Amino acid sequence: MQDERFDIVVVGGGHNGSTIAAYLAKCGLSVCVLEERSECGGGQENTEARPGFRIDPHATYLYGAAAPGFEQLELAKYGFRMVYYQSMAGLVTLDGVAANLGGRFNREVGLESLRRFTGTEPVDAEGIFMASMGDDGMRDLLRALFWTPPFPSDYEIEPKDAPWWKVFRQLLPEFWTDRLVDMSFIDFLDEFVPWEPLRAFEAFAAWYCGAHPSWDGMMLPSLGGTLLVGFGSGSPRGGMHTYAHAIIRSAIANGARIITNAQVGEIIVKDGRAVGVQLNDEASFPEKTVWANKAVISAVDVKQTFTKLVGKSHLDASFVQKVRDVSLKGGSLFVLSVIVENYLSITEIAISSQNLFIHLVWQHLLIQWSFSTHKPEMLTRLKVLQS
Ligand SMILES: Cc1cc2nc3c(=O)[nH]c(=O)nc-3n(C[C@H](O)[C@H](O)[C@H](O)COP(=O)(O)OP(=O)(O)OC[C@H]3O[C@@H](n4cnc5c(N)ncnc54)[C@H](O)[C@@H]3O)c2cc1C
Repeated sequence: MQDERFDIVVVGGGHNGSTIAAYLAKCGLSVCVLEERSECGGGQENTEARPGFRIDPHATYLYGAAAPGFEQLELAKYGFRMVYYQSMAGLVTLDGVAANLGGRFNREVGLESLRRFTGTEPVDAEGIFMASMGDDGMRDLLRALFWTPPFPSDYEIEPKDAPWWKVFRQLLPEFWTDRLVDMSFIDFLDEFVPWEPLRAFEAFAAWYCGAHPSWDGMMLPSLGGTLLVGFGSGSPRGGMHTYAHAIIRSAIANGARIITNAQVGEIIVKDGRAVGVQLNDEASFPEKTVWANKAVISAVDVKQTFTKLVGKSHLDASFVQKVRDVSLKGGSLFVLSVIVENYLSITEIAISSQNLFIHLVWQHLLIQWSFSTHKPEMLTRLKVLQS
């Protein structure tokens, strides 16, 4: 039997691996995805924890709803359907305030709720921006923030001329001042959002963009993190794994080959180029060597890719050290899914960790509580009086 040969070999069939495979196959390249598990999807998993109770143990929310890929890869044609939440989130404080924040589809509910508890006309910067921009404007801003290719490293640009500030100025000229460009998100919240619980919530939600809310100059990306959640505010129908299926169907329809039970043990490097991969012995694929004419793309974690699959003999020592120095300590994300037989009436939850999500699954309802420690004394002990 001949060695298998493709233009592109992708290691890992999570949603990043299968998405890149779908795009490259659509561009006419021959592509193969090698996935070690019996099912692709990675963190986009859906499982039946108990008969009748399906949960997403990892990714739950799809906040990439503004991404161009949904249209470009025609995911709706391949079965993807989004279920949008009528309300994005709720806020509960220790002194018994419970506010419904509404969200993109229910903005009036959010404002009414804030009005009731603050006693004043609420200033909800995110809500005001959402309302002023409208859906199309918000999609444009989110695309400028999160779906713009990085600039070449020698390309100089004034921060205020970054694509996201250009879109912001165009959409919201009445809110624009030069000062915004240097602000951190915390500066912005202190100035524009007068209610502490909402400030804490927004600072928490900002982590979706990856930038810490106290970093100078990151006000708009952080705000974009909260808008990302507001604009998406939903899940794929049938759970996250159905999203993975739609991407995989798109990849296959465009000609990609997806091979499961195929753990890659080594990325083969010749003359400084990745030219193929070696599968482990127990891989189900008959050929243990798969060659790549153009590129091997690793869609698995950076440490495994460089220290294990490529191997340090092919890499610069200082680069290997940088990879080793990548630390995952100090930040972790986990989802706790709790199945309860009855609605909770009074539950006390003591929280000592950083950010914590608790999912309460009651029959087919999923309730997610999020806690942040922006104001730790407010949130360290929370009474959920009624679910
Ligand atoms: C608890 C938790 C909650 C999250 N919540 C959300 C959320 O609500 N919304 C959201 O959008 N994101 C969420 N995420 C993040 C999201 O799950 C990840 O960003 C996403 O799964 C990354 O996709 P990926 O394809 O890069 O990697 P992965 O999903 O990790 O996929 C990597 C794939 O590579 C395979 N693989 C690994 N090594 C090999 C090998 N040697 N050979 C072959 N295959 C290999 C794995 O089996 C896996 O299928 C959450 C993550 C966690 C952990």
